[in-house]
Amino acid sequence: MATLADASLSFTRVPHPAPASAEVRAQVLANPGFGTKFSDHMVSIEWSEDKGWHKAEILPYGPIALDPAASVLHYAQEIFEGLKAYRLADGGIALFRPHANAARFNASARRLAMPEIPEELFVEAVRQLVLTDNEWFPTVEGGSLYLRPFMFATEAFLGVRPAKSYRFLVIASPAGNYFKSGSPAVSIWVSDYTRAAPGGTGAAKCGGNYAASLVPTAEAFARGHDQVLFLDAAQHMWVEELGGMNLFFVHADGSLITPALTGTILPGITRESLIMLAREEGLTVKEGRYSLDQWREDAASGQLLETFACGTAAVVTPVGKVADHNGEFVIGTGGPGQLTQKLRQRLVAIQRGDEADTHGWVTRIA
Ligand SMILES: *Cc1c(COP(=O)(O)O)cnc(C)c1O
Repeated sequence: MATLADASLSFTRVPHPAPASAEVRAQVLANPGFGTKFSDHMVSIEWSEDKGWHKAEILPYGPIALDPAASVLHYAQEIFEGLKAYRLADGGIALFRPHANAARFNASARRLAMPEIPEELFVEAVRQLVLTDNEWFPTVEGGSLYLRPFMFATEAFLGVRPAKSYRFLVIASPAGNYFKSGSPAVSIWVSDYTRAAPGGTGAAKCGGNYAASLVPTAEAFARGHDQVLFLDAAQHMWVEELGGMNLFFVHADGSLITPALTGTILPGITRESLIMLAREEGLTVKEGRYSLDQWREDAASGQLLETFACGTAAVVTPVGKVADHNGEFVIGTGGPGQLTQKLRQRLVAIQRGDEADTHGWVTRIA
């Protein structure tokens, strides 16, 4: 189990004057959905050129004031992270690989010309919020407290250059199941649009990537699918990832392939964790290229048994059907495959402390 070092800033605390009542909270926690309800508090830390990171605060959750010229509103200098806190069987609370999120946040910050935040401060900010709002864990099966750290440029300046002031916030949202349909496998639409090009920001977790994915996502929904899939920008041939999840392909010989991190794919922490778990199961995992044509062919021939998507929000989600302008194809039985279920169960068991954490992934904070 990983331990936490001291963070150098101390946090000022402003308790919420009128937190949600126990009744309202209980209602939310019994049916949290995803991303629509928020806990009572938020963490805020500011950065300026002269002071660096300063003014660390735990504040009532609520609207924030921004200058209309704040550069985030014009040039989208914004990055974010997503991670979950889990209630352990013994009543404790744990985060899953929070330092990996902190490291990726800083990689995103470098790409967006934003200041890096000390990893320990990032983790401490998340920890402070979870401890403050520890009554916001969902009571539903599979529930967790989803944490959203993010940073944006606050400087009021319309010239085009990196801003000189930023704000870092963490908010918390009780989370149930990401896919509300509860369907056993998702259906995906192969988009004609491109998510990320070589040299672009595809490997950074920035709001701008998502803004550009909304038209393709809406198109996928309008066509009756759950998710959008992006191919590579240059040849429109190689599978990259879904709008917000990485992909794995399970072959009949027991091997797995997942698209390699070439700079146009978001380096998922779930992806990396599953590669390690699969290898421990004795499986071969290749990080490489896989084309849409090969995928269709392998699904038809039976060479391909399963496909699953993975990410913090939805954990491991089976892909049942794939469609593009040429028609559609079904993977395996169209439902969740065996290995998909096994890897999901193992990962969830580790995250919730039901299986031994041999990797130092689980960081207990209470
Ligand atoms: C966050 C994200 C993922 C998944 O990353 P995890 O660390 O596993 O949650 C995959 N793709 C995109 C585009 C993402 O933004």
